[in-house]
Amino acid sequence: MNQFIEIEDIVKEKDIREVKEMTSLEQRSVDEDYSGKLKGRNISLPFSSLVNVNRKYLFNNFKLDELIFAITDVCPFRCKHCFYADTMDVKNEEAVYGMSLDEITKISASLGHFSKLLITGGEPFLRKDVAEIAKIFYTQNKIRHIHLPTNSFHTSRIVSTVTNILEECPKINFTLSISIDGLPETHNDIRGVKRSFEKLIETTRAVGELKKQYDNLRLNVITCVNSQNLNEILDLSEFVKNELPVVDGHGPIPMRGDPYDKHLRPPTTEEWDELSKELIKIQAHWNNKRNESYAKRTLRTNSEKHLYKVITKVMDGEGLPFQCKAGEVIGVLEANGDVRVCELKDTIGNVKDYDYDFKRVWFSDAANKMRETVPGCSCTHPCFINASRKIGLRSNISTVLGT
Ligand code: SF4
Ligand code: SF4
Repeated sequence: MNQFIEIEDIVKEKDIREVKEMTSLEQRSVDEDYSGKLKGRNISLPFSSLVNVNRKYLFNNFKLDELIFAITDVCPFRCKHCFYADTMDVKNEEAVYGMSLDEITKISASLGHFSKLLITGGEPFLRKDVAEIAKIFYTQNKIRHIHLPTNSFHTSRIVSTVTNILEECPKINFTLSISIDGLPETHNDIRGVKRSFEKLIETTRAVGELKKQYDNLRLNVITCVNSQNLNEILDLSEFVKNELPVVDGHGPIPMRGDPYDKHLRPPTTEEWDELSKELIKIQAHWNNKRNESYAKRTLRTNSEKHLYKVITKVMDGEGLPFQCKAGEVIGVLEANGDVRVCELKDTIGNVKDYDYDFKRVWFSDAANKMRETVPGCSCTHPCFINASRKIGLRSNISTVLGT
């Protein structure tokens, strides 16, 4: 029995059956015209939050500003680079949903205000209530940024959910990130789904249409760089730049963690260093597409330069040039209620054992003990690098100058 039959048995939805079909079909050539029109304006302002997050960091005991919430741990794909893929088989539909909306509402109510929610999985859009989840955090926690990465498979559900979120949360800066791992053949091979490239193009174009109505929708492409796709990342960047004009940005990042396919490896430091120098030139293209002042666009390019340099330093064994703020400004909530200071460290407790009070888990003895392991720790996880470098004048200056 293959993985998709198992998922189909559980979810019994047309789109899951489609995945199964796709795995058994011969790959069709992708010869569509990928052109589209860019109209949406980005209103995301990564530098404007610096003062608030630093003030919260200095004066509040509960400093959390970003929450990574894996709303499901299920996914019908088995990407070669995924470090969760071997834990995603489930035997019942309940498991797709992780926690209920009532449970999520209680957790959200315990959190107070914070800025950014990263909704992940598994594949988040397997849940039909993503918009309701977003609304809970928007209403109760006054979040102003949602970032949602997807494998792009459920086109119609993605479009309707994104529309709902934008209607129900009018002040949100919403970023949908489409995962693309290479040009068609490479992407489909890495994803293990033969028409997944076609599907992501369909989703990208459909979501691109929404940008005509919603200025606060941003469409990103993310790419996990590894030994299989390393040599075509620049071609892929050109493809995204030239053939997907609805896209607002493309962020290739080196693979991390323990991949599902043990033959895959991250780029070496030298490979990444060489590639990232070229990628920075392309980042300037994306930033120039923004409807912003020259100064702000330059700051963004410098910030990306800084991120890539930090990643190179970590890969080279030098460690982070600032302390990671996992367990302070950023944390992780798993689909089953487990809380972690970051994705790579063990759980510090489960909200269900603390009456759904996130702060009680966050300030538990286990959490405090885990926090002691953070100073001196380093990894290339961009969410944690980005959240951590916002804190403190020195890393703020390095970020702004790109040094
Ligand atoms: S990388 Fe994403 S799409 Fe791929 S198996 Fe993992 S969760 Fe699913
Ligand atoms: S550096 Fe990485 S592994 Fe270490 S605490 Fe921070 S996010 Fe976790």
